[in-house]
Parts: sequence; structure tokens; C-alpha cells
Amino acid sequence: MATNIIDVAPNDEGFTLVLHGGAGGRVEELSLEASGLYEHGLRLAYEAGAAILSAGGSALDAVCETVRRLEDNPLFNAGRGAALTATGSAELDACVMTGEGKAGAVAVSRSAKNPVDVARAVLEESEHVLLVTPSDELVDSWGLERVRPEYFVTDARQRQLANVQARLLEGSRHGTVGAVAVDRSGAVAAATSTGGMVNQSDGRVGDTPVVGAGTYARDGVVAVSCTGQGESFIEGVVAHDIFARMRYGGAPLATAVASTIEGELDSRGAIGGIIAVGADGRLVVAHNSPAMFAAYRSETGLVTLT
Ligand code: ASP
Repeated sequence: MATNIIDVAPNDEGFTLVLHGGAGGRVEELSLEASGLYEHGLRLAYEAGAAILSAGGSALDAVCETVRRLEDNPLFNAGRGAALTATGSAELDACVMTGEGKAGAVAVSRSAKNPVDVARAVLEESEHVLLVTPSDELVDSWGLERVRPEYFVTDARQRQLANVQARLLEGSRHGTVGAVAVDRSGAVAAATSTGGMVNQSDGRVGDTPVVGAGTYARDGVVAVSCTGQGESFIEGVVAHDIFARMRYGGAPLATAVASTIEGELDSRGAIGGIIAVGADGRLVVAHNSPAMFAAYRSETGLVTLT
């Protein structure tokens, strides 16, 4: 599988933000939507996070806000418009991690409007790292908005599920959103959120909320957010593998990402995408899938990949 790698040198803004909207390409059932809507959604999410960073805000605040915007956008596989399980329900996973090595994650979240906020609450308000299906009472105690299960389910995702189950559709089974950032103080953070794989078994949990698999951050080194076939990302401990190649092997960011894709994804026949930001502000967007949704700033301005 050919790997596409975009490697952008540190800018002079003093911060870097990269986001992704999944490596599965456009969902066929959403193809009637103008492609500009995807670009618009990526742009709005980028601008929301960048506004926080340019005002001197933290990388953690920026990645959470960026992911929240993508969760609220029904085109992407997270929050409203998430991919559905085999029984047609939305089971949402999310993770946030700071460069200080603190993480919070949620799996099979069903009622909080924004799973990324639950992950952050686990990080900041609980003594735990990973919670499965937190109770409504707990979500309320954190002051987070709850919605009915129908909120997450869109017509397009129901059609996608029906097509996958009828074996009319082979590809486009995944998605996921995520963001990584380094702020003006030099701190890094990562956040990832997903509905998982279309037609997954109820209760299946992918790489997104597994620290070190789909999400990882460490100050002085890197922040990583992944999308793709979650089982392979877990088995390859992909996000941490990139960190380890840099931290212990001294690999440059792009080399670390490329080596991990080759060593842990290609070798498993898995496809997906990775965004990463180095502590120095260098960024990488890489995928061995045919396409990847992403947004970042280069010398020429904001770049959106759709
Ligand atoms: N990695 C996600 C999962 O396995 C899906 C995706 O990114 O497309 O749950």
C-alpha cells in the first residue's frame, strides 16, 4: 500500500494545529451533499481550534473544541452522524491526552452530546482513565449536555448500514475525527472521537479510546491521533509506536510516522491515516488509504484535504 505523507515545517505563528475527519473517504450515502460542505466543516473546526491557540489558549482546549465541532457536524463519523453498529445504534468512543501524560477516555458512550467532553471529564474530574458507558447521572454531575439516542442517528448512516449489511457497499466503513496541537507554551495535546466501524458488533471498541493505540501525546516529543481499522491500530500500538521511534530511536517525525505505517499497518494489511505534531511545531498528515479528510496550515494558508 502506498503511503501519502505531508510533512510541514514549523511555522512562525508559535502554535500548530492539525485535524482529521477520517481516512475512509466520503460516505457514498452522503455523496449528494456538495463536497464543499466537507471542506467547510473542516475549515470551521480548524478555525475554532486555531482561535483558541492564537489567543494563547492551551493545546488541550484547542483539540477538544476542534473535535467538538466535528462531532456536531453530521458529515463526519463522530457524535451526530456517527457510524452505526449492527443493530443500528450509536456507540461512541473518545479520548483526550495532554503532553503531561494525563489521559481520559470513554467507550460505548450513549447519551452525552459530545463524547470528547466526557473523555475530558474523565481526565479532569475522575480518578480513572477509561470509562465504559458512563451513567446519565455521572454525565449530569459533570454538567455535560445529554441527548436522546436518536440525536446521533442520521438517515444517511442508516442507509449506509443497510447497504453494508446487504453487501452492496464494501468500502467506506470507517471515519473518525481527531486533532493534535502544540500551543505557544510548547505543550502538546491530542483528541480523537469516533462512532467506530459501520456494522460493528454492539460493544466493539476500537483504537480511539485506547491510550497509545489511536491517541497519544507527550510533551517534548509528539501528539498523535489516528483513524483506520482500529483492531490493527491496537495490535500495533500505533500512536505510541510513533512516539517511541522518536523518543528512543531519535527518528524525525515524518520518518517515525512512515516507519510505523509500514511496520504496523502495511504489515497487517490495514489501512488508515495519522496526524501528528512534533513539539517543535512540525506537522505530518499521512495515510495509506486512498483518501483522508484533514486540515492544517502551510506557508500558503489553510489547506483542507477532502
Ligand atoms: N479507528 C476507528 C475504530 O476502529 C474507526 C476509524 O477510524 O475509521 O473504531
